[in-house]
Amino acid sequence: MTDRPLAFETLQIHAGAAPDPATGARQIPIYQTTAYVFRDADHAAKLFNLQEIGYIYSRLTNPTVSALANRVCALEGGAGAICCSSGHAAQIMALFPLMGPGRNIIASTRLYGGTMTQFSQTIKRFGWSAKFVDFDDLAALEAAVDDDTRAIFCESIANPGGYITDLDAVSAVADKVGLPLIVDNTSATPYLCRPIEHGATLVVHSATKYLTGNGTVTGGIVVDSGKFDWSKSGKFPSLSEPEPAYHGLAFHPALGAMAFTFHSIAVGLRDLGMTMNPQGAHYTLMGIETLSLRMERHVENARKVAEWLEKDPRIDHVTYAGLPSSPYHHRVARICPKGAGALFTFAVKGGYDACVKLIDNVKLFSHVANLGDTRSLIIHSASTTHRQLTEEQQIKAGAGPNVVRVSIGIEHADDIIADLDQALAAATA
Ligand SMILES: *Cc1c(COP(=O)(O)O)cnc(C)c1O
Repeated sequence: MTDRPLAFETLQIHAGAAPDPATGARQIPIYQTTAYVFRDADHAAKLFNLQEIGYIYSRLTNPTVSALANRVCALEGGAGAICCSSGHAAQIMALFPLMGPGRNIIASTRLYGGTMTQFSQTIKRFGWSAKFVDFDDLAALEAAVDDDTRAIFCESIANPGGYITDLDAVSAVADKVGLPLIVDNTSATPYLCRPIEHGATLVVHSATKYLTGNGTVTGGIVVDSGKFDWSKSGKFPSLSEPEPAYHGLAFHPALGAMAFTFHSIAVGLRDLGMTMNPQGAHYTLMGIETLSLRMERHVENARKVAEWLEKDPRIDHVTYAGLPSSPYHHRVARICPKGAGALFTFAVKGGYDACVKLIDNVKLFSHVANLGDTRSLIIHSASTTHRQLTEEQQIKAGAGPNVVRVSIGIEHADDIIADLDQALAAATA
């Protein structure tokens, strides 16, 4: 291949992959193995010392899983990446090297419901905490930062849809206060949004969604931009100071832009064990080969469905940033130039009861707690994914009782619209 940079469409097929050195297999084999034979005792010692890079044990690294990490890293424009067992595992893995007991993160109020619960409840068990702030209020964001804050966290196209975070403005605040910005890019995918180009330090993904694309896998990925100076503030001792959990290696000075990635493998995956399996990595690699094609159709269908819904008298409002009526429409061209994604919400006249009837009457749509499938999906967030939240939190998160969330698939748009039409007729009769 030539030296000119390859386009996204080419990288999604070729990045991280080469014909198998042992057999010439064109597709990346599923290396279904737990361990790897060392050449000799010296080779083994060098691998454990990180003096030579190679495979030891599949809890740490595996060739199929590494191919996926390298591919997503290339698509996001990062320096290194690690795969994890789920999107939620990826979030813990992203925070793990940065945090410690008593430390906190500042998180956007507009997040996937499960992330809200992970951050507001579960991370307390580690002595970590989260403060939730409206990321459109940059002064409030900056004011929430204290001496114990170690990261700022948001989603690019945020759950449950219709909101686009001004990543340029948020990363400017992160730079000012000297903290890493972590962006969950699950709903956008790197085809629609590349957070590192907008100042993100780390990008996290649930590979369960659009990256795999067909609802077959649970997986997660963390991509490091390699751009954050972990040594500068003294706030990230796991990376900048001798790490007792890895015989005193100071990862940041020693490994430069790869410090976070190596720490995440050598300490994070080794000790937390949130590892992706090679079968899962294979399915996600297959999905990514068609990512751009699918995302184009997802976006086109979402726009058609949102436009149709907005004109329908049975609908109170539609929150899709791809619509000119959206207060976030002006951010699309800058943050996600290839489209506002395919996840959005709409409010049905008739409130909670009409929403429940609508859900019970769809035929083509699947009523599932998932998003980013080839199939169109629907859920009433207030009674499911956002059920753990108070009504005030639900409304703040855009998941009030009269709101339905859809993840528009890649079926024919006319069929998707026809299904919503008949279900709305039943719901509002
Ligand atoms: C699904 C999802 C997650 C969690 O991912 P899992 O793979 O289900 O653990 C996190 N963030 C967003 C935006 C998601 O859509």
